[in-house]
Order: sequence, then C-alpha cells, then structure tokens
Amino acid sequence: MQMKTFFLATNDVELTSIRFNKQRRLTGEYIVNEGLPRLLDLYDRIGVRSTFFVTGDIALAFPVIIRMIVDRGHELGSHSYCHDDRFALDQLNLQEQTNQLSKSRKLLEDISGNPVVSFRAPALRVNRFTPIALHDSGYIIDSSISPQRADMFFSFGAIKKLNRLWAARYPGYVQKNDLSKRGDYPVFEIPISSLIIPYIGTAMRIIPYSLQLLRSLLAWESKLTGNPINFLIHPNECMVEKDNDSRARRSNNPFVYIIAEQLRGYMKTKNLGESAIRLYEQHLLYFQSNGFEFITCKDYFEYWKKTKEN
Ligand SMILES: [Zn+2]
Repeated sequence: MQMKTFFLATNDVELTSIRFNKQRRLTGEYIVNEGLPRLLDLYDRIGVRSTFFVTGDIALAFPVIIRMIVDRGHELGSHSYCHDDRFALDQLNLQEQTNQLSKSRKLLEDISGNPVVSFRAPALRVNRFTPIALHDSGYIIDSSISPQRADMFFSFGAIKKLNRLWAARYPGYVQKNDLSKRGDYPVFEIPISSLIIPYIGTAMRIIPYSLQLLRSLLAWESKLTGNPINFLIHPNECMVEKDNDSRARRSNNPFVYIIAEQLRGYMKTKNLGESAIRLYEQHLLYFQSNGFEFITCKDYFEYWKKTKEN
C-alpha cells in the first residue's frame, strides 16, 4: 500500500498590519471584510480543511471571525492572547506564558463552543518553558518550530531561534524543555515545512520562484519519509490596507532603519491581496494533483496515533 501524504494549511489570524508594521484594530476589519473571506473561498474551491490559529485579542474584538472559521469546517487553534512583542513567549517566564495561553484558550472555547487543542506561538518565539506552559494550559498540539530555517538573522529574537538549525523535521512528542527535539513529553509538535527558506506566505510572495523549487523538494521529501507538509499563511496577506496610517519604526538608528525596516517593509508588502491568493492557489493545486490530502492539525494527530498503534 502506498504511504499517505498530507498537506496542512495553517493560518495565523492576528491584528498585525503588514503595511504599517504594528498591531491595530482597523487591520481586524480588513481581515473580516477582505482577507479572511478570500482565503475561506479559496479553501472551499479546492476542498481544503485547514487550521486557523487565532489570537485572543482579535477574537474578542471580532468574534465573527471565529464563526466564519468554524462554520466552514476548519479547526480553530490558538495564536496566544496578544501578538505584541511585549508578550512574545520567549520573553516570559512559565507563569506568564501559562496565563497568556490559558486566557486565549478559554476565550476561544467560550466563543466557538468547541475544545481548542492546537497552538502556534506569535512570531514563532518560544523558550524552554513553552512545552510545560502548553501542557498546563490544556494544549496537545504545537506548530511553532521551523526546522533548518536559516533566515532567522533577519528577524527579531534571532539568537533565540538558533535551535531551529538542529530541530527535528518530523512530527512527534517533544522534550519537556524543548519543542524542537523529539521526546516523550505529551505535547505533539508538527513542524512548519522549511529548508533554509521557510515554506510560508511571506516567502511565497517575496521570492515566488524559489518557493516553487522549495515546494518540489518538500514534496519529494514527503513522499520519501511520510512527513506532512505544513504551510503557514495569514489572511492579512490576502488583503490590501488602503488607509493612510503611519508606519511604526522599531529602531532610531538610521542605518538599521533604512536597511532592516524600509527595505524589509518594501519586500514584505509584495504580492499582497489577490496576487497572494493566485500564488497560493497554485501551491494548493500542485499538492492536490500530487495526491496529497488536506488535513487539520487535530486530525493529523489522530491519524499519527493510529499509525503508531499498528
Ligand atoms: Zn503571528
């Protein structure tokens, strides 16, 4: 019998404005009216069931987002409570992380009426307390690790992301103090597909041809090993924010400002809106025509457990 291969479409829903580089409520309105409906329509067209990791603050401000996701048959997961850098999990101790994670889970469960078991950390920033915080707050599945991704020097929290270099590429239970290593602690990690470049929406929009190459490599690896493909995208990428807000500056150093912020800001807004949908559709169709099945994180975990028992 041929080994089954899976594609996990995973979506992060948060108040982060890509264009203005900050958290804002107005971005949530664009998500409700433009970004999310487009993404959900694309999934319906192709027959994709996916997982949405939603922050507590956007769920509280726009509960309709939860209904839109759940009513279309997707899994609802948590993206912590707030995406602001001040609440990046790698900055918080165990108690503070547990607070953020529990608060988010309770809110998402109250609004949706469904259990929430899957999690992704904002900006993929985690530390040695995160597995315990996840377990203590009732999560079973995590998807915050991007193995062998080498672009971390361009992002915030770079040194702390070094663990990515030797992270396991296959899904499984983690170690009590490290989500990137396999062990027997009862938190199940589903890594985000990557190989030097991460297989995510941002890269798909900035370097579309490289992502086509990466896609072929990952599909080949997946057929060989059975590792699922896990692609990360945001509804924020499927919309264009047209208002005239100001762009937030993170640094007052003019050199850092020009190189790291202006250039990065310019690149990050490439191919937003309908272009992102068109590019993404090609990726989904590629995997569909290669026999991959679309699955949620929770269903993938159930499948994984069953194959381990046999
Ligand atoms: Zn995020």
